[in-house]
Amino acid sequence: MPHQPVQDRGRSLGAPARRARRPSAPLKLFVVTGPSGAGKGTLIQRLLERRSDLKLAVSATTRARREGEAEGREYYFLSEEEFLERAERDEFLEHVVYVSGRYGTLRSEVERAFAEGKSCVLELETKGARAVRDAVPGAVTIFIAAPSFAELERRLRERATEASGVIEERLEVARRQMDEAGEFNYTIVNDELDRAVDELERVVDHELMAKMRT
Ligand code: ADP
Ligand code: 5GP
Repeated sequence: MPHQPVQDRGRSLGAPARRARRPSAPLKLFVVTGPSGAGKGTLIQRLLERRSDLKLAVSATTRARREGEAEGREYYFLSEEEFLERAERDEFLEHVVYVSGRYGTLRSEVERAFAEGKSCVLELETKGARAVRDAVPGAVTIFIAAPSFAELERRLRERATEASGVIEERLEVARRQMDEAGEFNYTIVNDELDRAVDELERVVDHELMAKMRT
């Protein structure tokens, strides 16, 4: 059986079509998780530059758009009302409240990746990662850790995309999230960027070559 459809509990995520590379490998759902500021977005961006067989699922959020972010590229920016309507229509594979905004994975984004014959990458905080892990057999979960809490704080402050009050809230959540690494399939310490991207790519290669997890 060359391809198995990837499903969440009782609901198909769409039958995977042909793969872009490695025609005999199944399509996978990779969930990259970890605290804000650990470097998930940076690592995923670098990985996607190397790999045409992977596609990022763009999430929906109610948080304010940051300077430089574009609709449909970083996120689909929704009002609270639109978000709740789409949740009501069961359009999300998972959705959470994180700090002061809602975030959700659109089923349509995952289906689109599979329809293109690509494995799909999700970037989620830990609650959403756990929900996808539990709902989607075969999902591969990867926790990205910063080398230390002090370095995480430095990165968040240097990124300076949030007001200092919001950074404090994110750090508060991060303190708890750092203890959750053991709940996921892999942990990668994002110390030196190139080394961490190499490690992430090795995990992806290993999983794409392995049989489907059940
Ligand atoms: P996340 O998506 O987990 O919130 P980001 O990818 O936005 O984190 O990274 C947070 C900040 O840390 C960014 O300013 C980014 O440029 C920086 N960063 C990411 N990886 C590293 C690294 N290995 N060393 C130093 N700085 C890094
Ligand atoms: P940010 O506001 O920095 O873009 O994202 C805040 C946190 O929400 C990050 O940890 C990010 O990985 C996570 N996130 C982004 N999209 C989703 C999503 O669709 N679902 C969940 N559960 N978390 C998400």
